[in-house]
Amino acid sequence: MTNSILIVDDNPENLKVLSGILKKEGYKLRYATSGEQALTSIKESLPDLILLDIMMPDMDGYETCLKIKQMHEANDVPVVFLSALSETVSKVRAFEAGGVDFVEKPFHSVEVLARIKTHLALSKAKRKQEENAKRLADAEKVSNMGTYSWNVETNKMTYSNRLIEVFELEESHVTQDNIFDTCLKFIHEEDLQKVDLHLKNVRESSEPWVLEFRIITRLGNLKYIFASGSKGQLMGEKKNNWVTGIIQDVTKFKQNEEVIKLMVDLTDNFTEEESIERAYEYVLQRICRFMGWSIGHVFLYDNSDDQFSSADIWYLQDPGAYKNFKHNHAKVTFSESDLPGVITRSETFVGEGSFFDIEKKSKNDLRSLRLKGVYALPIKVNKKVVAILEFFAHQIMVNDDSVLNLLNEVGTRLGSILKQKLLYNEIRENEAIQERMITSASYPIVIVNRNSEIVKINKRFTELFDYEINEILGQRIDVIIPRRHHHNHGTHTSSYHKSPKIRNMGIGMELSALKKDGTEFPVEISLTPLSHSEGTVMASIYDISSRKKAEEELKESHDRLRLAVESGKLGVWDWDIKKGTFVWDDSMYFLYDIPKKNHDQPFVSFHKLLHPNIYLEDIEKVNKAMKAALGFDDVLDITFRVAKSNGKLMFVAAKGRVKFNGKGEPIRMIGVNIDLTGEIEIKQALEKSNKELESFAYIASHDLQEPLRVITSYLQIIEDKYTNGLEERGVYLMKRIVGASNRMKTLINDLLAYSRIDRRGSNFEKADLNVLINDVLTDSEVLINENKAEIEVGELCTVFCDPGQMRQVFMNLLNNGIKYQKPHELPRVKISCKIRDNNIAEIIFEDNGVGIKPEFFDRIFEIFQRLHTQEEYGGTGLGLAITKKIVERHQGSIKVESKYGEGSKFIVALPLTLVNEENNENN
Ligand code: ADP
Repeated sequence: MTNSILIVDDNPENLKVLSGILKKEGYKLRYATSGEQALTSIKESLPDLILLDIMMPDMDGYETCLKIKQMHEANDVPVVFLSALSETVSKVRAFEAGGVDFVEKPFHSVEVLARIKTHLALSKAKRKQEENAKRLADAEKVSNMGTYSWNVETNKMTYSNRLIEVFELEESHVTQDNIFDTCLKFIHEEDLQKVDLHLKNVRESSEPWVLEFRIITRLGNLKYIFASGSKGQLMGEKKNNWVTGIIQDVTKFKQNEEVIKLMVDLTDNFTEEESIERAYEYVLQRICRFMGWSIGHVFLYDNSDDQFSSADIWYLQDPGAYKNFKHNHAKVTFSESDLPGVITRSETFVGEGSFFDIEKKSKNDLRSLRLKGVYALPIKVNKKVVAILEFFAHQIMVNDDSVLNLLNEVGTRLGSILKQKLLYNEIRENEAIQERMITSASYPIVIVNRNSEIVKINKRFTELFDYEINEILGQRIDVIIPRRHHHNHGTHTSSYHKSPKIRNMGIGMELSALKKDGTEFPVEISLTPLSHSEGTVMASIYDISSRKKAEEELKESHDRLRLAVESGKLGVWDWDIKKGTFVWDDSMYFLYDIPKKNHDQPFVSFHKLLHPNIYLEDIEKVNKAMKAALGFDDVLDITFRVAKSNGKLMFVAAKGRVKFNGKGEPIRMIGVNIDLTGEIEIKQALEKSNKELESFAYIASHDLQEPLRVITSYLQIIEDKYTNGLEERGVYLMKRIVGASNRMKTLINDLLAYSRIDRRGSNFEKADLNVLINDVLTDSEVLINENKAEIEVGELCTVFCDPGQMRQVFMNLLNNGIKYQKPHELPRVKISCKIRDNNIAEIIFEDNGVGIKPEFFDRIFEIFQRLHTQEEYGGTGLGLAITKKIVERHQGSIKVESKYGEGSKFIVALPLTLVNEENNENN
């Protein structure tokens, strides 16, 4: 770039000469012939150098120079004086006016050129240096960076302003001599050691270095500092004692980084920590460490009294020192109205401006601990404050909105995590309740997923369906549904998933379920959707078998009743005792063949209608029974006779039940009358024919005994004396005749025994059945031995009986047990005794014989009924008939239980105390 030079001279000759010299060198020239002209030219455009003559009219060179120097923009333009004045005074004045050089006239062109060149170069260098300095200052400002030079021996330090700004110091606080030590005092105590060690290294080595540390500024703010430096020597000094470098405030940058870390740590820990106390503890500790605060504490909202109470959750930087404070703070409570509801801070805690009353209470503690700052952070769930974190610090709390915003953000985050936790806990609790309900339910429950697979069942389910848990889980629900319903179930399931709600399944349909063994049973099922997203549905299954059975039984009994009513053999009546009305159902009129005259008046008197017709002898009986029913018995059960309108006799059974009110008074009686005439007539006829049969049997067997005796004795003679003379066939026929007559003898004896049971029975007495059975066993010794029978007799009891007849019963049952044996098996008979209902002795004969088919269970007790031929097993078919008759004479009963082909069990039930016992004993 060409430099421009302004030549100021009133002598045109001089201008010409100078112009000649300078033009050759390529400078751009401007001219002025007076001081005035020069100033105007400079104002128009700044030259790089001015050549100024001293001796000029009006305004001389000195004055012109002074004026140029006063022009701010031209201040730096070098002015070289040209003058014929050669005295020193003139030269001094020129320099005082601001000139940089003085060239005496007449001048030598080479000298002038050399001087001009030098001044132009100097001026350029100076400008460059100024620009650099300005740039550095700007850079310091922008980068929060201060520069320094530090003498490691004397600790003297030169520094830029920015450096003292970083420490929040005032210029007046420091000098070059004390700034180093002053700055050291602000270093964060946790970083002190690190910095010390570093300084020691710096003093010893010459390597360039960098270091990061924290400071708490004069105003109490935490700052992160980046420092660098390298050792060298300053001009004029020999030793490498000077460390030159920068100090940069990287707090913003660091804080962002730390804030992110803090947030992540807090949220992570708060989410994952299961114990809420530990979660808060971590938050307190983390925030205190981050902020450099000393105490952190939590107040928790207590639903029961709508108060915030001091929780035993603390962070104490120095537990020993803060022990008292903790103690005094332990029981503090306050309500939400005490809360400002936003983050509150107090910079001047000791004095005015505490944020709760409680803090006032702790004022003394705080003062003695020299805690100055207090800070509260509310944690809100659904706009409701659930906890307050309070902090105390030694320094005044930060006044930086970004920190407050940060903590506010922490509060919000923790609140939303807490909300999620509460929600999660609620879900977990609900799940637990559901689980308990399912397990403890008294009915089976099954949960299926969208694919109709069983995902859960309860114990009742396994019990009812007879599955093990493991074999049913994962199976399709179809396993418990009868095959014929599978298709329908599929379509119903998909439509249910479209709009799942609680409802009963298959309304109006008969549902049934399938047990593991394939048995079906009727059920009712109610469905509850559990999770919409997973499509799980809970089915509660109610086994309604017994209800169905009861319903059916009820229906059957209704049907029976209806049949009975329709058959005309049964009449229904209803007596309102309080009102004195006796209502007859139509069936009653029909039963007694009495016309229902007044249909409009259903209330008719029992006495009027029926009483006159009752047989005189029975009236007393009826009245007595009615009285008893209305008194203590509460049931009526009698039979009486009635003369029907056609004069015929009718047997009637009346059965009824009385209802009583709270005072024990009878208020209503409902009953039925049953026409028993047919049954009683049949029974009477049967009894008559039995009696006749018995008499016949008795007479016949008695009278047959005599001729039979004659036949058998003659047969004996023939057998003894004449058999030898008979041919083989004759001997065979003889044997058959003897056999037949023996059988006839047995038959007649049996028949006689049968007909004598009632006739010739002896007295009842107390008899030990153990003795009786022993007699029987002794008598049957031959039979037992022949058949190699094994007889096991348990402890029997004592009963009232006719011992002779009872022996007969035992003999028959034992003999049958041995006789009806399977071909290749040895007979085994077990005799035992059981007491039932306190009053019934059951004597049981159990064998391992051929057994009896169920359809013959009744028939075998009838007279002459046999299930086998004589060839298979001999017998008369009277044994069990005799047995039954004897047992019935003892007011007992006999029955058989048997599995065909496996054995039989005859059970004789005898009352331990007989009705009319004394009579029997005396008879
Ligand atoms: P019988 O004189 O024929 O033995 P019972 O009256 O004693 O006459 O028995 C009637 C029928 O009952 C027998 O013919 C026999 O078929 C059957 N019976 C009786 N006791 C037994 C038993 N313990 N095991 C199998 N069948 C029996």
